[in-house]
Amino acid sequence: MNEKIALFTIFGGTGDLAKRKLYPSLFRLYRKGNLAEHFAVIGTARREWTDEHYREIVRETIKDLAPSDEEAEAFSSHFYYQSHNVNDSEHYDTLKKLSDTLNDKYDLGGNHIYYLAMAPQFFGTIVQHLKSQQILTEQGFDRLIIEKPFGSDYASAYQLNEEIRAVFPEQDIFRIDHYLGKEMIQNISAIRFANNIFESQWNNRYIDNVQITFAESLGVEDRGGYYDHSGALKDMVQNHILQVVALLAMEPPVAFSEADIRAEKVKALQAIRLYSEKEALENFVRGQYGPGKLDDQTFISYREEPNVDENSQTETFVAGKFLIDNFRWSGVPFYIRTGKRLTEKGTRINIVFKQVPINVFKDDVDHCGEKNDLPPNVLTIYIQPTEGFSLTLNGKEIGQGFTTAPVKLDYRHSAETTGNSPEAYEKLLLDSLNGDGTNFSHWDEVAQSWRIVDIIRQAWDKTTVDFPNYSAGSMGPDAAFDLLDRDHFSWDWQP
Ligand code: NAD
Repeated sequence: MNEKIALFTIFGGTGDLAKRKLYPSLFRLYRKGNLAEHFAVIGTARREWTDEHYREIVRETIKDLAPSDEEAEAFSSHFYYQSHNVNDSEHYDTLKKLSDTLNDKYDLGGNHIYYLAMAPQFFGTIVQHLKSQQILTEQGFDRLIIEKPFGSDYASAYQLNEEIRAVFPEQDIFRIDHYLGKEMIQNISAIRFANNIFESQWNNRYIDNVQITFAESLGVEDRGGYYDHSGALKDMVQNHILQVVALLAMEPPVAFSEADIRAEKVKALQAIRLYSEKEALENFVRGQYGPGKLDDQTFISYREEPNVDENSQTETFVAGKFLIDNFRWSGVPFYIRTGKRLTEKGTRINIVFKQVPINVFKDDVDHCGEKNDLPPNVLTIYIQPTEGFSLTLNGKEIGQGFTTAPVKLDYRHSAETTGNSPEAYEKLLLDSLNGDGTNFSHWDEVAQSWRIVDIIRQAWDKTTVDFPNYSAGSMGPDAAFDLLDRDHFSWDWQP
């Protein structure tokens, strides 16, 4: 058994993230033996809860994983609740006492993980208090896991980072980007670096363009208050999408280690062209959904959603083109798009390869008399909801004559495999227990991503768009299609 030993203190222990993701993930680790006898969890938040009530809540959150009564009981007995106001120094003293008691009781060797599952404005205060109230010990490890968003622009992210770095060294800071815990995001590296047929072609000689789509079919649901101050650019592009661009674009690392991968990702991000504001407006488009209809369902507009300003200028959709100015990628556009209330939910990456130099079949026509055009080879990586990849090749149609037709080699993980694969948060929690920061965002990456995104934001803030400009249930505004059309490309979107 590979048992990990640690005390988790979860700030925001009554919150949505803790209940939906963290407790079920800790339970999965417990079930697999990664957590056993030597672990404890302190949940802390404003509400006055008893340990017993907290444990009941924890058991409720793992119901779907069908534990036996004994299992649920044994697991939840490791959970303790401490009511706490993050701004109140005295509360940290109570927290320290409880930490010390649990450290002795479970023999935790001083290993401590602090999980900040709270709004970011509290991060600075919490870490300062962890130091000033001497909750951090010299024994074992002290690691900090922080949720997104990490700042709201470069300046605020820098400030936040300074506050955190005054207490924790970079190697003990684990900035969550839960996409980096997803199976198929991690598979990008396997596809690239374990297959010579792809790695040898992974450059501007063979790749025409790259298309990254993070589509959501849902609207803002109950997150209107948060989202209306954020928007798709900050909520999705600055973190998840730029991380994916970095993984696709980076040079092969010397070894598959945290330090080597980080160095290559940072270089890739630094090679992304920093646009002027004028260029940003030319290369990025934004959208906001109006009312719409899809499959007999009707949807209200974004501005009618709860807690959203009725004149909101917040974008619920972004599409854009990144250019990477290095030898490998010069001239290859990386198109990205993300939005809410789109036609379907799906995260996928298309690598669109260049055509053969000459189409020797061009004079052939198919049975409808159409010209025999060769579609490009496309490697698609499906991130969610299905996971897998496909490769579109051209083959000959059976029959007289010589008509080519696309053939799709399609590999999707079965529902059973994906059901049994670790959830992103489970993987990331285990990584943090192992001290492995490979699948987390490092400061240099976060900083460069903000520099890239800030320019777009600033350009947009100086101009207005006539919102809403796409119907709920569509794939976004026309401008997102024009963006590729202009370059003689189109979004390749097949189920
Ligand atoms: P939430 O509002 O459901 O929970 C916030 C928690 O903070 C609650 O436990 C609340 O009691 C506590 N809290 C608030 N003010 C406090 C104070 N002054 N003192 C002590 N405790 C206080 O939020 P959430 O959805 O769980 O999100 C938490 C963090 O995770 C946020 O940074 C969010 O952006 C991030 N996040 C959440 C999700 C998600 O799926 N919920 C996904 C990605 C990132």
